[in-house]
Amino acid sequence: MRRNEDELTKMRRAGRVVAEIHERTKAIIRPGITTRDIDKVSREVLERRGARSNFLNYHGFPATVCTSPNDMIVHGIPGDYVLTEGDIISVDCGAIVEGYHGDAAYTAPVGEIAAEARRLLEVTERSLWAGIDQLREGNRLHEVGRAVQAVAEAAGFSVVRNYVGHAIGTAMHEEPQVPNYWPGNPGPKLKVGNVFAIEPMVNAGGPETRELADGWSVVTADGSLSAHFEHTIAITEHGPEIFTLA
Ligand code: MG
Ligand code: MG
Repeated sequence: MRRNEDELTKMRRAGRVVAEIHERTKAIIRPGITTRDIDKVSREVLERRGARSNFLNYHGFPATVCTSPNDMIVHGIPGDYVLTEGDIISVDCGAIVEGYHGDAAYTAPVGEIAAEARRLLEVTERSLWAGIDQLREGNRLHEVGRAVQAVAEAAGFSVVRNYVGHAIGTAMHEEPQVPNYWPGNPGPKLKVGNVFAIEPMVNAGGPETRELADGWSVVTADGSLSAHFEHTIAITEHGPEIFTLA
């Protein structure tokens, strides 16, 4: 789908709300807070900006953010979990403004973290930038995944296969999907006006995943740490424009 200028303007607004949620939630992350506190901050920002949540009630999801600590990859439900020194915490959230969606995620350290955890965060974020850099008119979509995978695997990590990025617009998850790995074919040609949520999930161990009994939380099958970074990005004549950047 190619979005026109008016649509891109609305998506920029939604992206700015998501960026503000990132900024405000990052500011409270420290040992002793609960994952529910992160959701509370997100709700406040959404309300203040007159935006709706695309996470709340999504297939029944009970919160405006996903909070996924340590070996949890994605879709963690905010609750009583207390962040502890040395944890990493992935926060994924979104906003709807005038019917248009933004979606972005980050993984943050809680206090001082181990060197290997820090390296996982750095590599995963770097893999996101490598993927974003492929979002140029004329490129093929799956060059994104190839770039993400190259960065993650060169560092000795693995990319999750079971969960992927996506196009975004009037729905949070639109076709086509954006794998974070080379799926064996180049995929569709990228055009100005395409908007994607690029979101590498990188595991310190193997790529296999397991869903917990709550029906949402997804963890690494081998118990290794996992990180997740995501932005919503439009392809413009001048290259990628990131809507969810603080
Ligand atoms: Mg997301
Ligand atoms: Mg997403």
